[in-house]
Amino acid sequence: MEPKNVLKNLQANNNFEVLVIGAGAAGLGAAKYLKKAGIKAKILEARDRIGGRVHAVPFGSDSKLIDLGGQWIHGLGPSAGDLKDWQGKLNPIYQIAVDNNIQTVKAWHLQSRIQKNFWYKGGEIPHDIWGILEQVEDYLEEHNEEADESETIDQFVKRKFNYEKGSEEEMILDWILIYRFGQDYGANPKNQSARYQEEDIIFDGTEDLIPESMLSILNIVAEGLDIMFNQQVTEINYERDQVVVKTKEGIEYFAQKVIVCVPLSILKAKDIQFKPVLPEEKQNSIQSMGVAQMDKLILEFDKVFWDEETDWFNYIAERNGDWCQTLNIYKYFQRPILMMFNAEPNTHNFEDMTDEEVLASGMKVIRDMFPNATEPINYLRTNWNKEEFSKGTFSYIAANSKPEYCEVITRNIDSKIWFAGEYGYFDFIGTVNAALISGENSAKEIVIQYNKKTEEICQHFYENDMFL
Ligand SMILES: Cc1cc2nc3c(=O)[nH]c(=O)nc-3n(C[C@H](O)[C@H](O)[C@H](O)COP(=O)(O)OP(=O)(O)OC[C@H]3O[C@@H](n4cnc5c(N)ncnc54)[C@H](O)[C@@H]3O)c2cc1C
Repeated sequence: MEPKNVLKNLQANNNFEVLVIGAGAAGLGAAKYLKKAGIKAKILEARDRIGGRVHAVPFGSDSKLIDLGGQWIHGLGPSAGDLKDWQGKLNPIYQIAVDNNIQTVKAWHLQSRIQKNFWYKGGEIPHDIWGILEQVEDYLEEHNEEADESETIDQFVKRKFNYEKGSEEEMILDWILIYRFGQDYGANPKNQSARYQEEDIIFDGTEDLIPESMLSILNIVAEGLDIMFNQQVTEINYERDQVVVKTKEGIEYFAQKVIVCVPLSILKAKDIQFKPVLPEEKQNSIQSMGVAQMDKLILEFDKVFWDEETDWFNYIAERNGDWCQTLNIYKYFQRPILMMFNAEPNTHNFEDMTDEEVLASGMKVIRDMFPNATEPINYLRTNWNKEEFSKGTFSYIAANSKPEYCEVITRNIDSKIWFAGEYGYFDFIGTVNAALISGENSAKEIVIQYNKKTEEICQHFYENDMFL
């Protein structure tokens, strides 16, 4: 074939109605929605796997899957607070589990988790930290509207709770801020907005874990979709009618419409060049929102030496929130596994450490809490910040940012480019369900543009929870 014809052929084969960039929950949700509406979509994924920040690998003596990223269904539903759109509906992640007979295990219902608090001096902490925690929570809930847009949670709380520098009270307050706001949002309380903290909500009902892993849910969403792996997109050109998407290998794909479902951190890092550049308002919103960091150290032991019924073992370190929380996996899955967590800023202390150093640090804490601890027989650590295609864990509203920015980022440009991801649905920001819904919402807009009639069909699917 002549070179000119080869090019033509390649172009014809690389022509799509819709291209979706990224095969995480958002990209898969978008592509599935389009497929159901009869629109041909192809997903270009940089990695050699689906799931993105939902990732599970075989671990431990039984080689069963363990979640390295997203794992909880944050509220099964039905309903989500007073959000009208979700009244009487289940969390879409749970809906998929129900429809496909995937077992879930109750972890806890809101504040009902069983916790024990240890500290670096050994044994359980002698202070009533829950009393101080409640005061801090009440204060923030009642007064957050008085906070300046630029004020962080740390600054706002410390204006009120002004403990002496270096005192034990100050250390406990720092721990509380990391435990309560750092761990929940994975983000440093010194960066999180005080004004908009906790304006997001979760679904009602219990928070469940999935023995077969969160990935089992996304595997179902991915069924039947057209996904190309190892396709790192580096450029999206939307100057003309047809959008041209270029990969690192120089391959060009052409589409009428593109849904960009890469993490916010990838947009922040400008790993994809947009031509023309993105509108200023969108760029400012992207840069202004925060991306959290959270990592796990997963330890398997030959036997359980901890209290089988406790959900969380909390640890108050001497100088910071290192290894603030440890989850008792045995309670839910009957596997002798502890899952330790670090959130920002503490994750940064570990990013450049070797696996052995991370293990040694985690095990020191385990021994402080449980002097009779044995050596782990298997372990695994995550380093999400260093993953080229994640660069972090999930988004949050940073100081000087606001919830409206989530909508600004996802807003389509010239009905050619859409954006979706866990940041794209503020009400459930940071979750797998937010990503899935955000992807579906972008797809829905495209379906509406293509054909009004299809919209009615989609609406029917949507209202009857028949989509996935
Ligand atoms: C440690 C951890 C714990 C978590 N815990 C929970 C939890 O318990 N419950 C919960 O609901 N959520 C949790 N989350 C958050 C949840 O996993 C994410 O919010 C969600 O999975 C994000 O989905 P997404 O589709 O927006 O992004 P991603 O899953 O990151 O998907 C984006 C995709 O884009 C791809 N990509 C990136 N760059 C390019 C490129 N240039 N070209 C092509 N493809 C590209 C990536 O490889 C990836 O597959 C957790 C996350 C982490 C990391």
